[in-house]
Amino acid sequence: MMKALVYRGPGVKEWIDVPLPEMHDPRDAIVRVDAVTICGTDLHILKGDVPQVTDGRILGHEAVGTVLDVGAAVTGVAEGSRVLVSCISGCGRCRFCRTGAYGQCLEGGGWVLGHLIDGTQAEYVRVPFADLSLHVIPETVTD
Ligand SMILES: [Zn+2]
Ligand SMILES: [Zn+2]
Repeated sequence: MMKALVYRGPGVKEWIDVPLPEMHDPRDAIVRVDAVTICGTDLHILKGDVPQVTDGRILGHEAVGTVLDVGAAVTGVAEGSRVLVSCISGCGRCRFCRTGAYGQCLEGGGWVLGHLIDGTQAEYVRVPFADLSLHVIPETVTD
């Protein structure tokens, strides 16, 4: 189990124990969250302004962390990589991703973390399309 900030409907959030994230796809990574932000969008979600976010969703879509595990198809990061978790994921293959418009991804990317899938305000997070959604942080840059 791990601790996570969970949305419970407009105006209601809980810091509770939830199951650890699991790999769903060979392009996924599991990241240990070392630092996380609260975005203005999170405040909108908490007010109930983003109805796509449903009861039980772990919030958060920006973080710095350490890669714990990667799927078999991931080549750009490895266990132990210190990474920035982007708020936007992208499959890299659809017509929008091919023009760099990852936010419009047709294959399950875009803004999904803390929105359509569980997010980063937790001890661990599953990040889809890890090669395009994680950015290795230079050693000279702190969390
Ligand atoms: Zn944001
Ligand atoms: Zn795409």
